Amino acid sequence: MQIQENLKDIKSTLPEQVTLVAVSKTKPIADLQEAYDAGQRIFGENKIQEMTEKWEVLPKNIEWHMIGHVQTNKVKYMAPYVSLIHGVDSFKLLKEINKQAKKNDRVISCLLQIHIAEEDTKFGFSEEELMETLALEEFSLLSHVKVVGLMAMATFTENEEQIEREFSSLKKLFDKLKNTTTLNIEMKVLSMGMSGDYKVAIKNGSTMVRIGSSIFGARNYH
Ligand SMILES: *Cc1c(COP(=O)(O)O)cnc(C)c1O
Repeated sequence: MQIQENLKDIKSTLPEQVTLVAVSKTKPIADLQEAYDAGQRIFGENKIQEMTEKWEVLPKNIEWHMIGHVQTNKVKYMAPYVSLIHGVDSFKLLKEINKQAKKNDRVISCLLQIHIAEEDTKFGFSEEELMETLALEEFSLLSHVKVVGLMAMATFTENEEQIEREFSSLKKLFDKLKNTTTLNIEMKVLSMGMSGDYKVAIKNGSTMVRIGSSIFGARNYH
């Protein structure tokens, strides 16, 4: 019952325009089922194999979001069903997603991951690389991917001002691109905020939060 209560508590604090992705990585099927029974329909996972195993057994009206770093050679396993890929951080990966989406006769929605953290361990495009990529003719020809927004992770720190600075820089970039609508770009999703920082993220314009431990409890990595 704890999961249902946590979900209810978090949902009651989210503004209407903010979508909740329940991050269920490492958690057993029973936990996801409990969240599902409470009405949750969007789940986020960071490993393609684990996500696929869960997709196979859980109800088919769940939207599966890949929030982790994606290896090019594994895209094919999620291409038949994934609804949003958050962590797209290279043109090479976009091309592979396009290829696998085409094989499945789908258009796959993607978020481009932007590097905003001051730590250098996190993946993502710089603003300059993002602009260059979106301007590529080769990009405009990818008809089986749709870039629907941006995603980022802030530095893991207690320093709220720093987190705020990082999120607001992403929001600025998002606003700059918001009106760039082409056949395969329509910027509408700003995915930022996790258990520890989602309130700051929402204050800075997030439209999608990815929350795991505050719903399902701490993860246990053996
Ligand atoms: C694990 C993860 C989350 C959720 O983290 P919590 O702190 O448990 O809410 C969000 N986003 C990404 C990219 C993650 O890998």
